[in-house]
Amino acid sequence: MKYHLIFTLDYELFGNGSGCIDKCLIDPTAKCQSLLEQAGAPLTVFVEALELANFAALKNEPIRSQNQGIAAQLRLLHENGHKLELHLHPQWMSAQKKDTGWQLDYEKWRIGDLSDTEITDCVNGGLSFFSEFKIQRNMNSPVFRAGGWAMQPSGKVLKELYKAGIRIDSTVAPGAYNPSKGDWFDFRRTPNLPFWRISDNICQQNEQGGMLEVPIATENIGRRTHLQALKEHRSGEEFPLGCFGSYAGPNSKLQAIKGKFAKLVNVGTAMLDFSTLPSWALIDLTERYMSRFAGFEDTIPIVAIGHNKNFSRQSEENLTDYLNWANSCPDLTYSTYETWLKTTTINI
Ligand SMILES: [Zn+2]
Repeated sequence: MKYHLIFTLDYELFGNGSGCIDKCLIDPTAKCQSLLEQAGAPLTVFVEALELANFAALKNEPIRSQNQGIAAQLRLLHENGHKLELHLHPQWMSAQKKDTGWQLDYEKWRIGDLSDTEITDCVNGGLSFFSEFKIQRNMNSPVFRAGGWAMQPSGKVLKELYKAGIRIDSTVAPGAYNPSKGDWFDFRRTPNLPFWRISDNICQQNEQGGMLEVPIATENIGRRTHLQALKEHRSGEEFPLGCFGSYAGPNSKLQAIKGKFAKLVNVGTAMLDFSTLPSWALIDLTERYMSRFAGFEDTIPIVAIGHNKNFSRQSEENLTDYLNWANSCPDLTYSTYETWLKTTTINI
């Protein structure tokens, strides 16, 4: 098959630690898993290991034993053939639980801003969560996605990931841009390719690089189409049943406004996001992506992204429709990074 559709889910609570573990994390993930299993599609779960390590340290949280809650869910996903990969939000590094909620360090929101030692601690801390809970015995195709897409400048992070055995990054969303000081990313200049070799810059192709960037499928679907999709999303349920949380982050009010303004300017560029886009927009975006790379000589990964915390009942319906379309789509198969990589001519 020419096209490999890879469903990925960033497994986490809201960035400021708000949200109910059952209603925002476990229930919507189970729902997403079940819909994909019915269609025969594997899910790649980007596990935010730093926050889960903090939950694990609290004896009253549902991760407390290997047979309950989060740990049990991750093990079940793994046993059912889904993939667990590394996702990191460094603001959780020295988190403290207060009566009012989690106290996080917003100065450390962006992994790209951390020192060498902090990056090493983050990556090792994340990976040791996996081994502590015996969630995945050996990660033989480890893939990474930076929290909040905030990985640039990416040189130091890539070096640490490489040392830890990670060979694929899947953070970049080509064309997307956020200029806010606290959580910036800039993917406006990337190769016009479905994946590329990298060494120290995730946005730059380097034929000598020992790692791969496999970007999130992102397309310019046009302002009017994108606005219509956003309108439909906002007019329905935005969160899973019983899930409430806040998108508050590291920015001052002024920086947050700057970010919102940039988003408006950037309207038209959309990620293949199965928790927020209506099914017709998911299909439109995928068709555009497939035709853009139809002449490419290798097999093509199409990375879709979702978040458990906004995988609502509306998203369930949209994903169901999208899977019905994908099921009947010739030359398209459901895949994982590992499976896709085996079909290519790439050696990493
Ligand atoms: Zn995340």
